[in-house]
Amino acid sequence: FPGPRADIGVTGLAVMGRNLARNFARNGHVTALYNRTQSRVDELIEQFGDEGDFVPSTDLKSFVASLKRPRRIMIMVKAGKATDAVIDELVPLLEEGDIVIDGGNAHFDDTRRREQALKAKGLHFVGTGVSGGEEGALNGPSIMPGGSKESYEALGPILESIAVAVDGTPCCTYVGPDGAGHFVKMVHNGIEYADMQLIAEAYELLRQGLGKTPAELADVFRTWNEGDLESFLIEITARVLDKTHPGADGSPVPLVDLIVDAAEQKGTGRWTVQTALELGVPTTGIAEAVFARSLSGSVDQRKAVQAAGTLVGPTGGSLAGAEAEGFVDAVRDALYASKVVAYAQGFDMIQAGSDQYGWDVDKGAMATIWRGGCIIRAQFLNRIKEAYDKDAHLASLLLDEYFAAAVGNAQDSWRRVVATAVRLGIPVPGFSSALSYYDGLRRERLGAALVQGQRDLFGAHTYGRVDKPGTFHTLWSGDG
Ligand code: NAP
Repeated sequence: FPGPRADIGVTGLAVMGRNLARNFARNGHVTALYNRTQSRVDELIEQFGDEGDFVPSTDLKSFVASLKRPRRIMIMVKAGKATDAVIDELVPLLEEGDIVIDGGNAHFDDTRRREQALKAKGLHFVGTGVSGGEEGALNGPSIMPGGSKESYEALGPILESIAVAVDGTPCCTYVGPDGAGHFVKMVHNGIEYADMQLIAEAYELLRQGLGKTPAELADVFRTWNEGDLESFLIEITARVLDKTHPGADGSPVPLVDLIVDAAEQKGTGRWTVQTALELGVPTTGIAEAVFARSLSGSVDQRKAVQAAGTLVGPTGGSLAGAEAEGFVDAVRDALYASKVVAYAQGFDMIQAGSDQYGWDVDKGAMATIWRGGCIIRAQFLNRIKEAYDKDAHLASLLLDEYFAAAVGNAQDSWRRVVATAVRLGIPVPGFSSALSYYDGLRRERLGAALVQGQRDLFGAHTYGRVDKPGTFHTLWSGDG
C-alpha cells in the first residue's frame, strides 16, 4: 500500500464526476477514484489514465485510505437518496476535519440538514453548485461552494484551479455557510429557465410575426450575439436554428421543426419558484418560464383544445409595412429589457435567501463567478458585477444607472412588442410579465389598497392608512 497520497477524491464517476476527476488530474492534483460500479473506474483509467495522476480504488475503504488529510472527497452521484446513501457509507471511515463535498444538484434544505449532521461528527460538509454541464466539468465549470469558511481554506485553491477563469479571475468563490452554495446554484438554474423562455419568445415572435425561417433567425441571433446580448444561450440558439436534418423526402428540414414542442424539466426551476413563494419574492420571470414549460408539456390538453377549435382568436399572421419595420430590433430590445428584469428578480431572491438564513452572500461575487463556465455566462454579467461593485446594497438591479437607462431606452420597443404579440395571439408570458413587473415597481399605487379593503370587509384583516399610523378596521355594513 503506497500510503495516502491523493489530494482529492471523486466518487460517482458518471458524466459529471468523470470529467471533474479528469479536470482535477489535468491540473496536477493527485485524484482518487471510486464508483459503486467498478467498470466506470476501469473505463476512466483505460481511456484517460495518462491525463494525470489517478489513484483508482475497488472499494470505499481503500479509496478513503488513499487520501491525504484533511481528506477532500467529492460526491458526484444522483441527487437525493443516493447522496444520503453515499454519505452514510463514507462517514464511519472519516476522521475529524475531513471535508465531504456534494457537487450534485441537491436542494439547499438537504444541504443544510447534511451540513448539520456532519458538523456534529466533526466533519465539514460543502454543498457546491457546479455549472457548465459535461463540457464545463472537463474544461472549467463555474463552481459555487457553500459550507464553513475553514473548509474553504483547505478546498478553495483546488476548486479554483479547475474552474474556468475570466480576465484572470476564477469562476469559483466562497458563497456562504451551509446551503448557500446550492441555493445560489438553484437560482442560477432558475435564471437559466427565464433566459431560455425569453429567447424562445423572441424566436416565436420573429418566426410567426415576420415569417422568418429558422436559418434567417440563426443569422439574427448571431448578430445579436455581437452586442449587449452576447451570451452562451444566444450563441447556442443560433446553432440550434441552423441545424437541418433530412425530412421524409430526404431534403433538409430545420431540426427545430422536427423536435416535439414540449419542454421538459428536471426540477431546479420548480424548486426556485417554490422557494420564491416561501420567501415572498416576486420572481415572475422564472415562474412564467416554469409554467410555460408546463403548458407546453400539457400535450393532450393542447391537442384537445386545438381539435375542438372552440377557443377562437388570432394565431400569428405576418406583419407588413410600418408594422414590420424595425420589428427585429424592437424584439431585441424587449428581450434585453425582460432579461434585465429576470436577473434583477434572481438577485433579489439571492438577497432574500441570504437574509433568511444569515448567509451574507456577496451578490457582485456571484455575478463574477457566473461570467464563465456556466450556462448563463454572458457579457451582461460584467455589468451586473459593476453595478454591485458601485453599490453592494442596491435595492434592485433596475436602480443601477446603467440598467435603468438600458431598460428605459428599451421600453417603447418593449411595449410595442408586447402589444403586437397580444394582437397576433402569440403568447409572450415572459416578455409581458417582465413589463408588468417593471411597471409595478414604478407605480406609487397598484390597486393593493382595494385588496386590503376587500380583505378587511370579508375577514376583518385590518389595514394601514396613508394619513395616520396604526391598524384600522371598518364596520363595512354601517354608515361609514
Ligand atoms: P447521474 O446520472 O445523476 O448519477 C449517476 C452516478 O450516481 C453513477 O456514478 C452511479 O453509480 C451513482 N449512484 C446512483 N445511485 C447510487 C447509490 N445509491 N450509491 C452509490 N452511487 C450511486 O450522474 P451525472 O449526470 O454525472 O450527475 C451527477 C450529479 O451532478 C447529479 O447530482 C446531477 O444533478 C449533478 N449535475 C449534473 C449536471 C449534468 O449536466 N449532467 C450538471 C450539473 C450538476 P453507478 O455507476 O454504480 O450506477
